[in-house]
Amino acid sequence: MENGAQRILTINSGSSSIKFSLYEISNTENLILSGKLDRIGLEGGLFQAGDSKGGLIADENLRLPDHIAALKRLFEWLVENQMGGAEISAIGHRVVHGGSKYNKTSLIDHEMMLALIKLIPFAPEHLPHEIKAIDAVSRVYPDCPQVACFDTAFHREMPRLAQSFPLTRELFDEGIIRYGFHGLSYEFIMNELEENIGVEASKGNIIVAHLGNGASMAAVKNGKAFDTTMGFTPTGGLMMSTRSGDLDPGAVIYLMKEKGMSADEINELLNKKSGLLGMSGISSDVRDLLEREKEDARAKEALDLFCYQARKFTGSFASALGGLNTLIFTAGIGENSPVIRERICAGLSFMGVSIDEKLNKENAPVISAENSPVTVRVMKTNEELMIARQTARLTKELP
Ligand code: AMP
Repeated sequence: MENGAQRILTINSGSSSIKFSLYEISNTENLILSGKLDRIGLEGGLFQAGDSKGGLIADENLRLPDHIAALKRLFEWLVENQMGGAEISAIGHRVVHGGSKYNKTSLIDHEMMLALIKLIPFAPEHLPHEIKAIDAVSRVYPDCPQVACFDTAFHREMPRLAQSFPLTRELFDEGIIRYGFHGLSYEFIMNELEENIGVEASKGNIIVAHLGNGASMAAVKNGKAFDTTMGFTPTGGLMMSTRSGDLDPGAVIYLMKEKGMSADEINELLNKKSGLLGMSGISSDVRDLLEREKEDARAKEALDLFCYQARKFTGSFASALGGLNTLIFTAGIGENSPVIRERICAGLSFMGVSIDEKLNKENAPVISAENSPVTVRVMKTNEELMIARQTARLTKELP
């Protein structure tokens, strides 16, 4: 390892899987490997890792009864392959929710663990697994610094109005507010703009559309978070692959009262069975729907609604910002689907958004037409690298 370099392990924990990556960070940022521990707690556990070029370097079928066992196997493997043990400088975790207390990447200590446990009701689908992973790491590597990188942190600078729901003041004070998510992706995009494209590009009024399985948009003014589509949970805002996005709250009350649905059933409906999957009845994947839309009206309608909502949010954020200089597409759909980008931008020329057909088809870094007042960009996001970068920065000076 290069002198002064830090070796950072990033961990992104889900209910039955853990994604990880190992970076070496000095003056340069090098990915060493990335992979996943899959089917934790289920039959057919899997551990796979690939090197920086994607070549498979670990491929094991094994029982992974819980997160501790899964992380133990990862750490053993890292040591067996001379990449683990004391060579790991710090471990960075993606943490979905930092509540109103945590507005930046922070070192994990006992106090934070207690705070995260208290926050579980805010993100019951994600936080328990993330807490388990942090706990598992501290058992195996008690002396290794651990860092929490919050998906909510980027948005904590939003103006109070953008954070507010018009419920009661008591509920606002309890933290029932718009937090926003995908913050690591937005931070990465803003960093890239500033450092690789130029400070000017990061100024002014920007809308970033993070369109992946989870989809959200963020309005950014002069580098600072201004508004976002997701709300108290990642279920809100734009419709997504399987999540509903915004609804009339009355519809939820109706489901409870008239359909007798429980909170768990509503949760399942809104997070797993709605969105593109629910509307189409076919698939949650945009690629499948694009393939089927000619012969199946349901596929077309689901895609039409997705693009319509993204266009509507673009207009609403542009007016909230008081104008628009840059529109950025990122994540799985945003980076790879010219058709979806074109449909979202269709009809936005009245507000200065027009794209060049050829550049758009090529997924070029800038896809706006030469005379378009708004610059439209396609940028690759990298949440793992953002975690590694922030973890390295925070732990560099630690003894
Ligand atoms: P992400 O959550 O950012 O990994 O995005 C995953 C989603 O991106 C998939 O479910 C697809 O819907 C979408 N996607 C990936 N590649 C393409 C593509 N070439 N065209 C359209 N959609 C794509």
